[in-house]
Amino acid sequence: MAFKFVDNYREQGARKKLVEELRKKGIESKEVLAAIGRVKRHYFFDETFWAQAYLDKAFPIGEGQTISNPYTVAYQSELLHIKKGDKVLEIGTGCGYQTCILLELGAKVFTIERQQKLYERTSKVLPHIGYKANFFLGDGSKGIKEHAPFDKIIVTAGAPLVPQILLRQLKIGGVLVIPVGDEKEQKMVTVIRVSENDFDKIVLDTFRFVPLLGDQAW
Ligand code: SAM
Repeated sequence: MAFKFVDNYREQGARKKLVEELRKKGIESKEVLAAIGRVKRHYFFDETFWAQAYLDKAFPIGEGQTISNPYTVAYQSELLHIKKGDKVLEIGTGCGYQTCILLELGAKVFTIERQQKLYERTSKVLPHIGYKANFFLGDGSKGIKEHAPFDKIIVTAGAPLVPQILLRQLKIGGVLVIPVGDEKEQKMVTVIRVSENDFDKIVLDTFRFVPLLGDQAW
């Protein structure tokens, strides 16, 4: 893929329309909508496909993976209730679009990807376009023990269950957002660590994600 980092009026206009579309679809957080308005999603597309970049659709990013549709990214981001300086673990870096949204929200991001080519590409592209995260290559279904605990954990691939090991890497008061279900569809689940051994779980809407593969996954 050949990326080109130019932001024209056409893309700026399309981005504004996307923000309006997400607002109408139910995204309420001003901060999340503003972040969607700032991150140039077309930077993650080959120029041939720029017309698709601000549609509310998932799109292939290579290696059999996808960039999630903007509504899903906004929905998960809203559930995290990010505060400036929050230490966030993102599992499934992909092309890094969600990573940029988390950074725009003021998070300190630790992001892990299991596909080497995506890891290599994204860890180069993001700093180039001004986004600084901590990139890791490996199986994120086990979290990143050396950097735990986290204020928030977001999983951007569909899991068969909530990996207990991730819950143990949350701070007290921390939040995990993870799609859980079968290969076809998943429910968005949030788990809040209310004390050392107590967790509150909320099951929300249905989504379709690529599978989370790994030790604590498929
Ligand atoms: N958030 C990404 C973005 O904005 O482009 C989209 C992520 S894509 C829907 C899911 C990603 O999770 C894929 O890149 C896939 O390789 C990755 N993945 C799947 N299982 C994983 C695991 N155990 N550890 C880390 N990454 C994983």
